[in-house]
Amino acid sequence: MSTQTTEPLDVERLREDFPILGRKVGGDVSVPGEGPGDDTPLVYLDNAATSHTPEQVVDVIADYYRSYNSNVHRGIHSLSQEASVAYEEAHDRVAEFIGADGREEVVFTKNTTEAMNTVAYAWGLAELGPGDEVVLTQMEHHASLVTWQQIGKKTGADVKYVRVTDDGYLDMDHARELVGDDTRMVSAVHVSNTLGTVNPIADLADLAHDHGAYVFVDGAQSVPNRPVDVTDLDADFFAFSGHKMCGPTGVGVLYGKRHLLEEMQPYLYGGEMIRKVTFEDATWEDLPWKFEAGTPVICQGIALAAACDYLDDIGLERIRAHEEGLAEYAYDRLTEHDDVTVYGPPGDDRGGLVAFNLDGVHAHDLSSILNDHGVAIRAGDHCTQPLHQEMGVAASARASFYLYNTEAEVDALVEAVDSARQLFA
Ligand code: PLP
Repeated sequence: MSTQTTEPLDVERLREDFPILGRKVGGDVSVPGEGPGDDTPLVYLDNAATSHTPEQVVDVIADYYRSYNSNVHRGIHSLSQEASVAYEEAHDRVAEFIGADGREEVVFTKNTTEAMNTVAYAWGLAELGPGDEVVLTQMEHHASLVTWQQIGKKTGADVKYVRVTDDGYLDMDHARELVGDDTRMVSAVHVSNTLGTVNPIADLADLAHDHGAYVFVDGAQSVPNRPVDVTDLDADFFAFSGHKMCGPTGVGVLYGKRHLLEEMQPYLYGGEMIRKVTFEDATWEDLPWKFEAGTPVICQGIALAAACDYLDDIGLERIRAHEEGLAEYAYDRLTEHDDVTVYGPPGDDRGGLVAFNLDGVHAHDLSSILNDHGVAIRAGDHCTQPLHQEMGVAASARASFYLYNTEAEVDALVEAVDSARQLFA
């Protein structure tokens, strides 16, 4: 479990675990846009999109392929047994990491998006109909927003959105107006990947449960950087991705309360998820395998468990404090100038990211100039197009921080923004 010390992170030490951070990237500052150079130190501030993978996790991946690569649950030979045990135990480790009640509640998926689609299709298509309501927030990622929207169209259920206040918080008064006895599902992002808002999930869960609805939590931006206990939150379903938490791409997690997963029919059919098949019918494997059709994400799942070990060894409270400290510093530095708009709550009350715009410069141009300085950020709508429409902009630039980032890197970001300001003056 997490080390509960509040000691600041030894970032210089941790950076040694990530050799990629030492590399140089293209983009000669003196000749912006003129082909790749290889002389600029990388400043990686795109962690909300994908974080880097420490040596400890890379070693687990290499060891899997070097030593016991094999299909699971199919062979009785030694390699298959070793892979099967490691893969099953990876579910136990992830269950422990998020406070779930055992491996039965932890389904490995491809990513957060697939976890959401699993519930939307397996539960939503079967359970929803005209007159039912699904309540989302205006700050949902497309992974949840588009998915429930489509399920609404297929089933006739209404999809409603809880407003975001001008200062970037969820309007809980509006949530209390919207959630009623027709509500069947409330789906909310835990930490907004655009605003950095940390939403009051436990309150939303209480509200949903008071009306007999379920709550689905999008934890893609919370599990990587803060202690999360799905039982404390009383989430019915919870999803996150390995590639944002020091794990590999290609693995995500669907947590579901055991009785709900037991009641749900599978979403995907095929091998691995069946128990008995005849020409007429089939029965399903136990949880969680019932939801893991076909050859599953074996190596990725094992590596995800290693990522959980890595984060727990450092301590999630410390990671949160570090990341939020950097976000506050970035917020303060960026807003030293009136021509920068930062979206979302105040600097001292947000997760570890800052989405912003510089007056008169499109976010894509800004990102390109920053790239010339070696600074990697995200530009666009961050898969929250409707939220950007509410914000009155088509796109924003987003810097997002992780355990290995430093204040000096925030300074590099701010200096690169200064260059853009001068270039467009
Ligand atoms: N939800 C949030 C809040 C995210 O930030 C993301 C990824 O950026 C997702 C969902 C989707 O994650 P994935 O692309 O790994 O499915």
